[in-house]
Amino acid sequence: MPELPEVEVVGRGVRATAVGHRLREMVVRERRLRWPVSPELPAVLRDRPLVATGRRGKYLLLGFDNGTLIVHLGMSGNFRFLAEPPVAAAHDHVDLVFEHGVLRYTDPRRFGAMLWHEGAPEAHPLLAGLGIEPFDPAFDGDHLYRATRGRKVAIKQLLLAGRAVVGVGNIYASESLYRAGIRPGVAAGRLSRPRCDRLAAAIRETLADAIAQGGSTLRDFGGADGAGGYFQLSCRVYGRDGEPCRSCGEPVRRAVHQSRATYWCPRCQR
Ligand SMILES: [Zn+2]
Repeated sequence: MPELPEVEVVGRGVRATAVGHRLREMVVRERRLRWPVSPELPAVLRDRPLVATGRRGKYLLLGFDNGTLIVHLGMSGNFRFLAEPPVAAAHDHVDLVFEHGVLRYTDPRRFGAMLWHEGAPEAHPLLAGLGIEPFDPAFDGDHLYRATRGRKVAIKQLLLAGRAVVGVGNIYASESLYRAGIRPGVAAGRLSRPRCDRLAAAIRETLADAIAQGGSTLRDFGGADGAGGYFQLSCRVYGRDGEPCRSCGEPVRRAVHQSRATYWCPRCQR
């Protein structure tokens, strides 16, 4: 499932290949994504230049000169840029056709979304209530400290909820807590200010490392074989239950809370 780093990397791929180009045509083969693609969208976008890309949480923002296409990749969505597009396959639901090639949206599970918004995208109802971005300078230990006071919920659950900070999904929550030396089940309100400082820094480092790793797959963005190819994060604890902690050698533990798997080192995380 694409998480914040994957969305960021896809956005950079779109920026590198299509920003500054005029969209000739939008071809919708399958409207039934998570919400139906508006039948008016191809006419709204025809001959409009793509001027910018951005990201808010896990939403990809494709900025045209007349509004923003808000894209969510859902469980399995992805874009590829194809200079010479082959005939569309079963899950290739949308083509954004530019003069120099095609941005093809593929989504086998169809939980993705493409919504049109005129005006500031941050005002869209889906985006307006999102928490602070992890790379926003205002996201720091102080922010996390204030956001956790009085909260009895486990710190990992609080991160996943997305209100204290957006984009920290299940994998990255486990990885960030490991880096910060904090046990996932600790009540959020019990974290000291220095531990909040460490956690905020660990979240940023974990996500930045993942984006950097994904950046190295950007060369595949234009490849015909790039469909569904999310990059593999090299995890320190996630998916490594029973294997030795890379720092102390103790076997990594796994538990399931609310049907989400959590991984941690019982010695390094307190
Ligand atoms: Zn350890």
